[in-house]
Amino acid sequence: MPDMSRTYDELTRLIASSYENPDLGLISRAYEMAEAAHHDVVRLTGDPYIVHPLAVAYKLAEMGSNLNVVAAGLLHDVVEDSDITLEEVSAKFGEDIASLVDSLTKLKKVKYSGTDRYAENMRKMFLAMASDVRVVFIKFADRLHNLKTLYAQPKHKQERIARESLEIYAPIAGRLGMSEFKGEIEDLCFEYLYPRDYERVRDMITSKVREKGAYVSRIIDQTEKYLAESDISDAAVHGRVKRLYSLFKKLGKYDDDLSKVYDLIAIRVIVRDVEECYGVLGILHQKFTPMPGRIKDYLAQPKPNGYQSLHTTVFTENGEIVEFQIRTQEMHELAEFGVAAHWRYKEAGMSPLKNLYWMEELAKIQKELAGKKDFMEQLEIMKIDVFKDRIFVFTPNGDVIDLPENATPVDFAYAIHTELGNKCSAARVNGTMRNLDTALRSNDVVEIITDKNRRGPNPDWIKFVKTHHARSKIRDAAKSTVSGWLKEMIRRK
Ligand code: MN
Repeated sequence: MPDMSRTYDELTRLIASSYENPDLGLISRAYEMAEAAHHDVVRLTGDPYIVHPLAVAYKLAEMGSNLNVVAAGLLHDVVEDSDITLEEVSAKFGEDIASLVDSLTKLKKVKYSGTDRYAENMRKMFLAMASDVRVVFIKFADRLHNLKTLYAQPKHKQERIARESLEIYAPIAGRLGMSEFKGEIEDLCFEYLYPRDYERVRDMITSKVREKGAYVSRIIDQTEKYLAESDISDAAVHGRVKRLYSLFKKLGKYDDDLSKVYDLIAIRVIVRDVEECYGVLGILHQKFTPMPGRIKDYLAQPKPNGYQSLHTTVFTENGEIVEFQIRTQEMHELAEFGVAAHWRYKEAGMSPLKNLYWMEELAKIQKELAGKKDFMEQLEIMKIDVFKDRIFVFTPNGDVIDLPENATPVDFAYAIHTELGNKCSAARVNGTMRNLDTALRSNDVVEIITDKNRRGPNPDWIKFVKTHHARSKIRDAAKSTVSGWLKEMIRRK
């Protein structure tokens, strides 16, 4: 395994070189707190624990995330894994960083059981939690490093984490246009979930790259020469090899016929502006014969996730076929980092991000970028489905219960089990005793205290419960009880 650990020096060097007037004091204080918090802890890889938050922070800095996000990356495990409290984080680093750390701590309490229903719940959970999209960036960076060090985990954990990442994290990254994360996550999971296919596809790619490497370099050189002869002087031209999982899926569509995959190795041309994109396309089509039906203008019509580029597949020397992808630097960063890059551009020179309702923001961005109808529709459906009047509440074990807004501990108890509802006598919300008619809020951790001797629900509960389910269970219990007063109460209502 390659050594992926990043040192604190590397992190500060990266920040110093790529940020304008960065507050390195903030990074140093965050590092100190994290270092102290995880001081005696060793990861299963044998590395000191601090390697992990450093890797997360480094990734975030590479993406050009706001420094508060980088600091939160350093601190993301301290509340969960040490004696440091959220209040201390808040006192030292302020509300913004504390709220990021808090969201991440809570997100970790979600466990995945492997069934579809649960995956769906998790997906909703993820979206609901992401009322601040920056939490998702940190979570991705966290997950990515955990996947990179997954080899150190026991087998059953490898399988669970890989499956969860492939089914939940990768699609969300894709939806946010963060193809860099999506691709990295998919390939890492692929290896653990389908080891044989992984090897097959990897060997395919390795031998193809070996076979075509020299040829592709020649085409790159030629292209650079052609561009230099015209007015396009600042272009960067380089080869990119298709990711393994992405090739695996494509092969599935083409009966494993590798000759039908034209973008196994593609050549990317990155230029200054949109005019140059079309300029390069024109030059390429003069020099090489384009393949009919393979010119894709994602500038005029971006993909639903905002992806923009010009693609063309051309015949080169000896009938060889190669795909070109032409884009500006900004499009390139958007293609790699999606929403994260967009935010960076947007906030350049501006005050730090506040809590953005990222779905709304994303919708706006999509409108700007795409204006494509079907995606907007999907987004609308998702928004309604995910956010409308729903809250997500945790059991003390970290299971997620999905309830309507203003639901109470009684609704929560019945959502888990009828008996728990019938016997519930009190509730602890986030560790504090609360009335049974308390309105719960997203992220609350709720513990139901039962009374074994209790004969059934209090009919008064009907007045405040919010779910149909709880109401009908309370009615059922009232019907089956012999107690006259209970019936009386129901009738009076
Ligand atoms: Mn972590």
